[in-house]
Amino acid sequence: MVREQLEARGIANTGVLDAMGEVPRERFVPDRLAPRAYDDEPLPISEGQTISQPYIVAAMIDSALVGPTDRVLEVGTGSGYGAAVLSRVVAEVVSVERHPSLSETAAVRLNALGYDNVEVVVGDGSLGYAERAPYDAVIVTAAGPGVPRALVEQLAEGGRLVMPIERAANDQHLIRATLRDGLLGEEDLGAVRFVPLIGAQGWPAQASTRTRAR
Ligand code: SAM
Repeated sequence: MVREQLEARGIANTGVLDAMGEVPRERFVPDRLAPRAYDDEPLPISEGQTISQPYIVAAMIDSALVGPTDRVLEVGTGSGYGAAVLSRVVAEVVSVERHPSLSETAAVRLNALGYDNVEVVVGDGSLGYAERAPYDAVIVTAAGPGVPRALVEQLAEGGRLVMPIERAANDQHLIRATLRDGLLGEEDLGAVRFVPLIGAQGWPAQASTRTRAR
């Protein structure tokens, strides 16, 4: 998986590659899907959600330009896999999930596997998690209509926010927004497909059937 799906597509960050090689992805998917855990695709978890494709997990962490002293907010814990990979690369991970059942399962898994620098929180991550702000980076694993203002307010100076934005139906782009001197500079990292960010600064709940993907 590391060689064929990540290095072959240009991921060269050794911290990210080592973490992707180390975290047992089969422990984060439903048992019946364990034989497909390292396939080059997202897989269904419960609550109609997905564990992202391995390449997307690596690319988002790589794009966030994070390092070993950083505190990072992840919005969308899902299975907990992305948080586990991130926890090998940075100092602290705070991960917010809106579905209590997913959050609880992820917390139990992360604890059992010894990822003790991850704090899992239930809530609307489109509002961030102000209690632990500021964050050196924020990674949002669901697509919203725009960059949530609350997340920008919780970024440290020089902080990076990586998230998919859906500017028109079926037209999502991964962006990196960097906060410098109170200004947010945005870069487009390419087309993607994610489940929707549901929340006060995302989509309303009835939009949850808009997309079904990563
Ligand atoms: N990082 C996850 C993993 O490794 O399994 C992938 C998560 S999945 C692509 C996106 C997640 O975002 C879903 O679990 C979904 O419930 C969650 N989500 C959507 N809107 C949210 C919100 N406002 N706050 C927190 N989580 C949200």
